Order: sequence, then structure tokens, then C-alpha cells
Amino acid sequence: MKNSQLKNPNPKINLKDIVEGKAMREHNTFEVNGTIYWADRISKDQLATHADCLICGKEFEKDYTYQRHCTSCELKIDSENFNKLELIEWDGKTPLCIWDSDTFFFSEDDIIM
Ligand SMILES: [Zn+2]
Repeated sequence: MKNSQLKNPNPKINLKDIVEGKAMREHNTFEVNGTIYWADRISKDQLATHADCLICGKEFEKDYTYQRHCTSCELKIDSENFNKLELIEWDGKTPLCIWDSDTFFFSEDDIIM
């Protein structure tokens, strides 16, 4: 068997290319490139490997199931959310963390090290 005859186990599927339909006994289905998927077994978001960004419209490869924005737009949204935070004086007691991470600092010594 030639390589060209092998099916790609992870073909690119854009969310917009998934066609909703009905099959036996009115089961909801999705159809992609001639293959029918049962909607009660898999969602469109699980099936799609790619989607079009809701902000800029560019197609991107999804990093997680319900991703709706490309990495560039997600970084922009994240940066805007960070800049909306109020700057306040630290009381020296409240634990601190690095934005969007699970790295915490419980004392001044933790920060200085
Ligand atoms: Zn985008």
C-alpha cells in the first residue's frame, strides 16, 4: 500500500465545514468529508481541529475543544483584561500570584528569591 493511499488519522477539520443533518430515527448527525458522525457521540467542537477566529476571522488550529479565538487575539484579550486591574499597595500578607499562572508567593522572601 502506498503512503498516498493511507488515510490521515488526524485530518484537518474546520468547524465551519461540519454539516449538521439527520439519520435513522431522526438522530442528529454531523457530516465531514463524506463521513457521518452521531451527534450524541461527539460534538462539533470535539470534531473540529480548526476554527475561524470570532474576532479577526483568520483560521487557526485549536489548542483546546471550545477555543473561539486565535492565539494572537487571545493574547490581546488577556492583555486588555490585565490592564483593567486596579493597581493597589500590597499589604504584605495577601498571597500574590503571577498573572494567568499557578505560581504563588506567600511572603516577601518568596518574591526576592
Ligand atoms: Zn484572531
